[in-house]
Amino acid sequence: MTQPPDTDNKVGLVIAAHPDDADFGAGGTSALWTTLGWQMHYLVVTNGAKGSADPEMTSERLIPMREQEQRNAADELGVVSCTFLHGMDGELEYTRDYLGGIVKTIRRLQPHAVFTHSTDYIHRRSFAGDDEDPLAEWRGFINHRDHRCTGQMTLDAVYPTARDRLNFPEHLDEGLECHKVAELFIWGSANANFEIDITDVIQTKIRALTRHVSQFGDRGEDFIANVEKRWSSADGRFYENFERVSLPI
Ligand SMILES: [Zn+2]
Repeated sequence: MTQPPDTDNKVGLVIAAHPDDADFGAGGTSALWTTLGWQMHYLVVTNGAKGSADPEMTSERLIPMREQEQRNAADELGVVSCTFLHGMDGELEYTRDYLGGIVKTIRRLQPHAVFTHSTDYIHRRSFAGDDEDPLAEWRGFINHRDHRCTGQMTLDAVYPTARDRLNFPEHLDEGLECHKVAELFIWGSANANFEIDITDVIQTKIRALTRHVSQFGDRGEDFIANVEKRWSSADGRFYENFERVSLPI
């Protein structure tokens, strides 16, 4: 399935916790839908200040670097805009300010589709070749707290906060309108029910990921082989998977 929703409002908003998450979660779909006439936008909630194992790196240097890397990656995909809320990486809390920042972005862009993180605590993932691994069926990854927090705030922003005029009325004073998001696409969900074939843009997605030089710059070929495997399927094609939720009109 590659066709995006049938709508006149061809606007999508990807809401992610850290610089690079949007590219991992929905970068292929963003590139693909862009080629089909959609305007895709990114909103990044934290500043990525903790994303370095380099003893010489400081958060002060890393923050602007990662913001620029996110913009570079978005450019590769054709994503129209990146908005940053500058939350502290690793310490994101569900607050009125961050919820308001997400709601405001939704009201400003009026997207048909919103993409975000799952709120699941554990991600399970099986790679091709796992048959050799006796623990394969129990392997999992803890879903980062910032991801869970971002996913939760995004769901609440979509319904009901962005929709109802008495929530954050200051946005309306600024000339923004309330907005009903029509569809949610949640990556990393145990309840994934929808796959998007990104085979045509898998190299674009990988190129975008490699623009996050502070994260993957020194891992070269190895990194590319690993990310290719992550979205590959037994049929030889590449997919991003989502829990798709069509919301009542
Ligand atoms: Zn992340």
